Amino acid sequence: MLDALNSIRLLDILDILIVSFIIYRIMLLIRGTRAVQMLVGIALIIIIYFLSGKFELQTLHWLLKTFLGSILVVIVILFQTDIRRALTQIGKTPFATAGKVGNREVEELVRAATYMARRRIGALLVIERETGLRDYLDTGHRLDARLKAELLVAIFLPASPMHDGGVIIHKGRIHSSGCLLPLSQNPAIDKRYGTRHRAALGLSEETDALVIVVSEETQQISLVEKGRITVYHDEKTLTAALRQLMAPQKTPTRMMRWFSARKSTAPHA
Ligand code: ATP
Ligand code: MG
Repeated sequence: MLDALNSIRLLDILDILIVSFIIYRIMLLIRGTRAVQMLVGIALIIIIYFLSGKFELQTLHWLLKTFLGSILVVIVILFQTDIRRALTQIGKTPFATAGKVGNREVEELVRAATYMARRRIGALLVIERETGLRDYLDTGHRLDARLKAELLVAIFLPASPMHDGGVIIHKGRIHSSGCLLPLSQNPAIDKRYGTRHRAALGLSEETDALVIVVSEETQQISLVEKGRITVYHDEKTLTAALRQLMAPQKTPTRMMRWFSARKSTAPHA
């Protein structure tokens, strides 16, 4: 026993710590998602595979063996959205700031959204934050224009040749219009939402982008972030929400939050 303990090198401890950290991060990422049920399903198949081998159920054993042989490909296909999101989160810097969308830009966005909502003009305004949206920018028409409400309205007028798809705001400027966004595959989304809202939700599930959706049907203005949709009924609360979401801020890590929670609850001497 002591011999075994003595043979553990510092590198082995580091190795175990790294693997534990990776498993912990994966568990945090998939907690509360569909991936958990799928993992349970895969675990059950593995158990049945071993049991079928033990009890010599040869056909079942062969079938599961063939399936498990290509399990890596199956996992990549099933979890492609989660894997993409996980990789972008790994690449994110913990102290990154939220682009160059200041008060002027927020005012222009709110002015455009409220004008379009009043006139039943549907719109999709994407604000890039830390995650680069290059893949989506390339699907549209490049404009590289100063952010102005009038220009946004002109883009989304139904007669405009660029009104379909979304406008992407990159570093505080209108980078492109007519951009194609990924539709959310979440089956729990309310059926009353059509493709415009689903595209906003899809992008926000895969990236940290903030999306403003103006509905031509209901005239509602919604903010979509991290797969969640919130409706705003007046300019003031919409402006306040956008300002708060766009303010440059440090995104504290879980560990930093834990330490600050300890500090604030620690008894004073
Ligand atoms: P609304 O409430 O405005 O009617 P909706 O959620 O019901 O919105 P649709 O009525 O289906 O959605 O909106 C269709 C419009 O959404 C299209 O004309 C197009 O501009 C936009 N749209 C649809 N799919 C995408 C996509 N994948 N990426 C970007 N924009 C899209
Ligand atoms: Mg519709």
